[in-house]
Amino acid sequence: MAALSSSEKSAHAKSTLSPECVSVRELLDAYVDGEVSEAEAAEVVAHVALCERCRNAETALRRFLASVRHTQLPVLASRRLRLRIAQLFLAGHDNAPGSAAD
Ligand SMILES: [Zn+2]
Repeated sequence: MAALSSSEKSAHAKSTLSPECVSVRELLDAYVDGEVSEAEAAEVVAHVALCERCRNAETALRRFLASVRHTQLPVLASRRLRLRIAQLFLAGHDNAPGSAAD
């Protein structure tokens, strides 16, 4: 019996975030603030466990928020604005050398 059905679609779209990643990224800001539901938190946790890019984004976002708190900037930015700032921050960090790999 020969099965000629090779339906293996591996889209190598590494430069593009999957819809799953996008929805997780949208939750990240609230997630690191502890402002998501348990179900949403579980969704983020489950995703970052499998997705290194989102895990890195979470780490960077935590650092970003920690630095914002550390400098005690006035919290006059809305969540939407903070998210945009965070995304710009993350975009800048994508190419930056994270851990000094010699
Ligand atoms: Zn992801």
